Amino acid sequence: MFIVDAHLDLSMNALEWNRDLRASIKEINEREKHLTDKPDRGLATVSLDELRKGNIGLVVATQIARYVDRNSSLPGWNSPEQAWAQTQGQLAYYKALERSNDLRPIRNLPELYSLIETWPSDQHTIGYILSLEGADSIVSVEYLEIAHEAGLRALGPAHYGPGRYAQGTNATGGIGPKGRELLQKMRELNIILDATHLCDDSFDEAMEHFDGHVWASHHNCRALVDHNRQFSDAQFKELIRRGAVIGMPLDAWMMVPNWERGKSTPKSMGVTLNTMIDHLSHICDLAGNTNHVGMGTDLDGGFGKEQCPNDLETIADLQKIPNLLAKRGFSEDDIKKICHQNWLNFLEKAWA
Ligand SMILES: [Zn+2]
Repeated sequence: MFIVDAHLDLSMNALEWNRDLRASIKEINEREKHLTDKPDRGLATVSLDELRKGNIGLVVATQIARYVDRNSSLPGWNSPEQAWAQTQGQLAYYKALERSNDLRPIRNLPELYSLIETWPSDQHTIGYILSLEGADSIVSVEYLEIAHEAGLRALGPAHYGPGRYAQGTNATGGIGPKGRELLQKMRELNIILDATHLCDDSFDEAMEHFDGHVWASHHNCRALVDHNRQFSDAQFKELIRRGAVIGMPLDAWMMVPNWERGKSTPKSMGVTLNTMIDHLSHICDLAGNTNHVGMGTDLDGGFGKEQCPNDLETIADLQKIPNLLAKRGFSEDDIKKICHQNWLNFLEKAWA
């Protein structure tokens, strides 16, 4: 089964975790076994080979860099220019992987169709759609033109905490004039709005001021795990009304209630790939169909084996999902939609 993963932080892993994604997953993990600077050291689940093994032929790959002011306790850069430079380094990594034939950019429908045609016979060069998680690095809206020129096709204005254009997870407040200016430029350039990480106030204001294409690349349900990082049923209904597709992340703390970081384990909390299907089913119930859900695993988003479904060793295990969906009563057609078709249909509309 061809699988689309709508959220991976590949270049962040390369540049901040110092992971060579062209190496085997075994080698990546062995090389960092002795490190303790991050909780997921030696526990990576994502490499290019594992993506190929999992028949994950198309990913949405992020650039990500936060700006922080002097009062912030979040990690980040002290000026937007530095954050921009960080994202340009990340872009350079993707470009290097294009040169080595590991990745190919997907920026329009001809490139998308060509990938779908060639992937079954040549499962080597993975398609990637370039996105930006948090817009702090867009120094001014003119930079968005440069980013678009370089291939940027989706943008989530917020990440964790307060942002320069929108407020994110654990923050409050709207998007204000700067956020609205950004959205207007995104509309002009036909950049997809990624609603993920927008706090409730910013979500409302963004929906009010943006009539372009919206998705939520990696988002679970507040109805199942109550936290402001998750969307409420009303928010999902608004997204569904706009034709959004919502990607299911596999970060354990968002999948089951009462997860304690560093203490809980996937086993002790009973987190499995089936737990993802609980969230996915909830959204399908709200929609009354299976047209609005897909995967956006975030499996390299600052966590690894210690905080993902217990029955997933590497990202290649996404191939277990079709079977699990079938056991839960999803039809063959539903399974195809969830694994790839919903994202492809969305892109066909967005890029028509
Ligand atoms: Zn995220």
